[in-house]
Amino acid sequence: MSKIYDTLIIGGGPAGLSAALYASRSKMSTLVFEKARMGGQIVITADVANYPGSVCKEGAEHPTGPEIVARMVQQAEDFGAQRVMKEIKKVNLSDKIKTIETADGEIYQGKSIILATGAVPRKLGCIGEKEFTGKGVSYCATCDADFFTDFEVFVVGGGDSAVEEAIYLADFARKVTLVVRKPFFRCAKSIEEKALANPKIEVKYNTELLEVKGDGIAESAIFKNNVTGEEYEYFAPEEDGTFGIFMFVGFDANTNLFKDVITVDNSNFVITNDNMETNIPGVFAAGDLRVKSLRQVVTATADGAIAATIAYKYIKEEFEK
Ligand code: NAP
Repeated sequence: MSKIYDTLIIGGGPAGLSAALYASRSKMSTLVFEKARMGGQIVITADVANYPGSVCKEGAEHPTGPEIVARMVQQAEDFGAQRVMKEIKKVNLSDKIKTIETADGEIYQGKSIILATGAVPRKLGCIGEKEFTGKGVSYCATCDADFFTDFEVFVVGGGDSAVEEAIYLADFARKVTLVVRKPFFRCAKSIEEKALANPKIEVKYNTELLEVKGDGIAESAIFKNNVTGEEYEYFAPEEDGTFGIFMFVGFDANTNLFKDVITVDNSNFVITNDNMETNIPGVFAAGDLRVKSLRQVVTATADGAIAATIAYKYIKEEFEK
């Protein structure tokens, strides 16, 4: 029989890493599972301007998203949390001892589980989106902005992500067009004002992207004004040959692995109480995969801290009484 850990944390983003820090600091034996790279969404964010303590004043030195993650990992490991860089294929959450199975067939056991699998960028669903992903279509400005230095780019979405990333992209691109399907933004007023004041950014309200076209690389796109019904095709300038389209239309919860046994809402986000407890005793959820009103690094780390603290109390009561 393999070792039974106090807690198994699935997901190495801010929520999972914060849970790992709090759990290991309470001397719980702690494993954090991450399939690709630690950090989640924050590693594709250049500036984390609103995480308390990360100063982002122009010109001032401040840590980037990846640097904040590197510190979180170090901090958790310093207290004894261990990382397992493997994808989880199966979970059994119903028994008192929880088990998870990795894609390569290893089984791990835990007295508690903290689900911190986060969310992934939502696909827009327009024609050509899939075909031109990586060939003009992108979901990560930090990763791909440089490819579009001096080119024209479109940013689809009107929330915080779209508008913040449009501002970031304007440092690279010749021109950024924000494509917003409503007649207004959904982002914070301060971010909106910054975008509107940027001479490189143009906003097209009431507009939807219908199709991306090209021969191996994005060369044109069809847009529709949803008030007038007018459709028009944008062609990349001949001297450029291509252009960029960045999609920031929200996120989908990464809950496929357990959404059949854990209570989720209509959009598959996990429902918890204030203690991060799910419908199954010993199973907690933290971070962007939860139903919540604010998905931020600061709320993810707070969730992780609460989940680990309550998991500690749960283990004391259920296993050490
Ligand atoms: P979001 O707030 O859900 O906004 C999504 C945007 O995409 C909305 O403008 C939405 O339009 C649009 N959209 C959705 N589906 C679309 C479609 N099929 N076609 C065209 N447009 C579509 O998503 P987010 O901006 O990624 O933010 C997610 C969460 O993270 C939010 O809670 C946000 O506050 C937070 N966040 C915060 C910061 C920050 O504070 N610095 C930065 C990034 C993200 P409608 O308005 O018409 O639905």
